[in-house]
Order: sequence, then structure tokens, then C-alpha cells
Amino acid sequence: MNIYNNISLKPFNTFGIEAIAKTFIEISDINDLINFHNTEILKSEPYFILGGGSNILFTKDFAGTIIHPNFKGIEIIEKNKDFNYVKVFAGEIWDDFVNFCVTNNLGGIENLSLIPGNCGASPVQNIGAFGVEIKDCLESVEIYNIETGEKRTLTNNECKFGYRTSIFKTDFKHNWLIIYTTYKLKSSDYSFQTSYGALSEELKRHNEVSLKSIRESVINIRTLKLPDPKEIGNAGSFFKNPIVSIKKAEEINKIFSDAPVYKFSKTEVKLAAGWLIEQCGWKGKQIGNVGVHKKQALVLVNYGNAKGIDIINLSEKIKNSVFFKFGITLETEVNFL
Ligand SMILES: Cc1cc2nc3c(=O)[nH]c(=O)nc-3n(C[C@H](O)[C@H](O)[C@H](O)COP(=O)(O)OP(=O)(O)OC[C@H]3O[C@@H](n4cnc5c(N)ncnc54)[C@H](O)[C@@H]3O)c2cc1C
Repeated sequence: MNIYNNISLKPFNTFGIEAIAKTFIEISDINDLINFHNTEILKSEPYFILGGGSNILFTKDFAGTIIHPNFKGIEIIEKNKDFNYVKVFAGEIWDDFVNFCVTNNLGGIENLSLIPGNCGASPVQNIGAFGVEIKDCLESVEIYNIETGEKRTLTNNECKFGYRTSIFKTDFKHNWLIIYTTYKLKSSDYSFQTSYGALSEELKRHNEVSLKSIRESVINIRTLKLPDPKEIGNAGSFFKNPIVSIKKAEEINKIFSDAPVYKFSKTEVKLAAGWLIEQCGWKGKQIGNVGVHKKQALVLVNYGNAKGIDIINLSEKIKNSVFFKFGITLETEVNFL
């Protein structure tokens, strides 16, 4: 266990926002977690679990303890003729895990290539891209209650996954730390998900549809369309795509016939938040140190030295103009601290 005091969190968030944490604890050994709840630190001060910091906006200094789980390990724990069950610890980099699976011919998460962050956070917002979400192949999650020391295993169902949400954003928010997750991945008869326009186009450049070609295609698309946090600070999609009634979408389509609409449920559809923002003229706009990315209007960026409040102010302006034009309230995807 490594403990640091008054540490800058700038290297620990992809937005590249400066904030100071009073205490930062990196836990690499599961045994260090046991009895952690007895420490004075947690009794007297706030604490927060931080993974790779790619879905966080720091809005101020943190006068408490940042807990950074850094448990490592990827292990195939069970095999049968159709599936492999793979256990991955919280501190592994998500894309290294996707690479491991593709290299070992295990199918299910190849569409989720190059999503930043650590494996421990993957169930928190049920990460998704190109028509796949982790809920499609997650078997279980091993969790630890930082305050009581209780350990539990949650099944996929118990995680209450939804679009960019799970129990870890509601009832089990804050004090349950994810130690490892187990994925059930296909070892043959893969069910490739290639219906997303950009992906099916990119796949035409390959001779075959395979785990490897899907991974390469997704990486190409993402590299071309999304800003690299190492170059421009950002946390990916800042807002969720809004889910609205079919009636509301029809009203919008009457005025804007090209508005993208995706199936969601029997009564609701998903609209593209990026498209809504673009229609309000925000794409590529810069205000001081912050702005809206020129290729993807859903991504807010830090051009350097921005503070959390600058990003919040910009996001409020965007929310107001989308509400004014479309009557839709955008919800943030990024977590604020
Ligand atoms: C360029 C870019 C592209 C992105 N694209 C996508 C995308 O396509 N799809 C998508 O879904 N997301 C995307 N994201 C968002 C982000 O990568 C994911 O949400 C990722 O899972 C966050 O992982 P993290 O380790 O960085 O989590 P953090 O940002 O550190 O934390 C996120 C949340 O998870 C909690 N948390 C983290 N680790 C644990 C743990 N071990 N136990 C309990 N709680 C924990 C934190 O408390 C926090 O509430 C993108 C981000 C960027 C910067």
C-alpha cells in the first residue's frame, strides 16, 4: 500500500484538471483492503474510489482520501466447449484486457476496444460502444464494502445494468469497491456486432470479419474521431444520449427530418446528444481554455489550464441551448467530484 499526501491529481484524470488530494492511497494487495475500514482516515474524512480518471471531472481540491485500486491479474478460470470465464482485477487497463481476449480468441468485448480507464470501473457505467455493452457478457462482480469490510459477489442481474448505469451509480454508489469482474466470453461461434454504420464501413477494408479485424476497425475509427486525452484533455462523451418518448422524437423529426433516432424500448427511443449539440452551433467552439471538440460535439475539451468550473459553465450553456431549441434536458455522463 502506498500513501501520498497533498498530491496533484492532474496526472490521474484525463481531463488534465489540477486538483490537490489531501491523501492518496494506492492499494495493490487485496490483503491491504481487509481491515482498511478500521483505519482512522476513513472515519474522519471523505473518501473517493478513483480508477483511471477517464470519467471524472474534478471541480475542487479534495480534502479527504482518494483510494486508487491497483490490483493486477487476468486469469482464465473456467473453460467449456462454448465459453471461457475470465477474471480480471480492477487495476488492469481496460484496453489491455480487450487485447488479451482478442489475442486469445475470446469474443464479446472486441467492440469495446480503446475505451480508456481501468477494468474496475467497467461495470460502473456499463461501458458501451458500437452496439455492445459489458452487461452482454459480464458474469459477476466481486465487491468489498470499504466501511463495513463485507465482501459480496454480484451476478449480472444484481448489477441492475442499464444504459450507462448500474447499481454502482445508485444503491451501491461510493462505498462498494470493485475488486475484480468475471466475463463469460465465447471461444467459438462468435456473435459479431457490426451493424453500426461507421464500423461496417471500416470493416470493408478487411478481408474478413473477425475479432482481430473488428478490434482494428474500432481502434481506427476511435483514433480518427476522438481526441487523445494525452494531447487534449477530455473525458469522452460528456453527456448521455437522451432517451425520449417516441412521440417526442416524432415532433423533433417533423422539424428536423435528419435527426438520428435509435430504437431503445417499446415506448422510447434514443437521440444522439452530439447531433443535438451540433445543431445548436457548439461543435468546434472554444471559450477561453475550454471548448467543444471539432470532430465530436459530445466531447468537451480542456485546451490547457482549465478549471473544473470552466467545464461546468460550458456544459451549462450547452444544456440551456439544447433545452431551448429541442425541449430536452441533457444528463451528464461524466462524474463530478
Ligand atoms: C477519449 C475517451 C473515450 C471514451 N469512450 C467511452 C465509450 O466509448 N464508452 C464508454 O462507456 N465510456 C467511454 N469513456 C468513459 C470512460 O473511459 C469509462 O467510463 C471508463 O470505464 C472509466 O474508467 P476509469 O477507470 O477511468 O474510471 P474513473 O473515471 O476513475 O471512475 C469512474 C467512476 O467509477 C468509479 N470507480 C472506478 N473504479 C472503481 C472500483 N474499482 N470500484 C468501484 N468504483 C469504481 C469511480 O468512483 C467513478 O464514480 C471514454 C473516455 C474517454 C476519455
